[in-house]
Amino acid sequence: MDFDAHFKSRLETLKAEGNYRVFADLERRCGNFPRADNHKNGARRDVTVWCSNDYLGMGQHPDVVNAMVEAVQSCGTGAGGTRNIGGTNHHHILLEAELADLHGKEAALLFTSGYVSNWAALSTLGSGIPHAVILSDEKNHASMIEGIRHSRADKVVWRHNDWRDLDRKLHAVGDRPKIVAFESVYSMDGDISPIREIVEVCEAHGALSYIDEVHAVGMYGPRGGGVTEREGLADRIDLIEGTLGKAYGCVGGYITGSAALVDFVRSFASGFIFTTALPPAVAAAATASIKHLKASQAERLAQRDRVARLRARLTAEGIPHLENDSHIIPVMIGDPVKCRMISDILMDDWGVYVQPINYPTVPKGTERLRITPGPLHTDADIDHLVTALTSLWRQCALARAVA
Ligand code: PLP
Repeated sequence: MDFDAHFKSRLETLKAEGNYRVFADLERRCGNFPRADNHKNGARRDVTVWCSNDYLGMGQHPDVVNAMVEAVQSCGTGAGGTRNIGGTNHHHILLEAELADLHGKEAALLFTSGYVSNWAALSTLGSGIPHAVILSDEKNHASMIEGIRHSRADKVVWRHNDWRDLDRKLHAVGDRPKIVAFESVYSMDGDISPIREIVEVCEAHGALSYIDEVHAVGMYGPRGGGVTEREGLADRIDLIEGTLGKAYGCVGGYITGSAALVDFVRSFASGFIFTTALPPAVAAAATASIKHLKASQAERLAQRDRVARLRARLTAEGIPHLENDSHIIPVMIGDPVKCRMISDILMDDWGVYVQPINYPTVPKGTERLRITPGPLHTDADIDHLVTALTSLWRQCALARAVA
């Protein structure tokens, strides 16, 4: 086989569909969030980032940066091994205690990313509980879908956020161990699931509840414990999964739950056992970030204010965006080529960076710009973004009228 010819032809198809991914070459500037340098054709220019998942700018918070620098100086760079073979550092232990406390659970377990935590935990639960069935919300993240697939357990998909459909499907499964997997904040539409109703259905059927709070930890709840904390439901969920890579500004993932559940995953998950532990400095920085957001409301409040302001401005200018109760503002384009083009123009002409979101991250025909305002975007930044989008929308309308 001519392997390269095969690879090139598949890539050509992707390009023809407008779904080929091009990464922006950025250099974030610590202390100047949300600005970054964009490197292009040998030059560098200042841009404002509008699509970061470092939602609160914690990746540049002095407490977090200092914690990381101090831990590098005291412990060095890498962990030096898997958790079992020399890689467990005191900073991991402190972070796991911090996470268990954040969600009011007996125990927590760290992974190298949120993706790996979902993949490892779901595959271990699905394969390690005899005759288990996993009921998965139809819009669950790829990491959950892959974990379920890898478990080889039977899978039943229920309609997005539809707890009545879940109830019917749990009934149909009958007397087998059931795991219900869903998210709190869905990252592409920004909608929030009806957690209370889902939990009640799980309880009625004796199902194990598994929630992904990746886009909610640090962001919701009085201590940043996510939507489950805000709604007072954390103690009714069996497993809460989260990331350290978004609102906490670091990298890594975790699960929290009962001591027995967490120890079970720790003891049987290949995605935990056979990989080098997170660098101690990352654990120290994440601990500092979580501690800060447990005590401080300032970042969450400022962010909410920015989100509300941008939404109101977009509505006033007639820029189509999905309404939801979260911090994510999807501006709908509905065409991959236009989406890429608008993103390029925003970057090149306006110094505004918003990555286009195309298939397979979202279904074809729902391509969008996913805007995530942060606490440090100023009124002037918002005005500039809205002016840029309004100008582009007018040009598109004009082009349609002429055609
Ligand atoms: N779960 C959801 C819902 C996500 O959107 C993501 C990533 O965006 C992940 C898990 C993976 O988390 P991480 O980026 O920490 O790997």
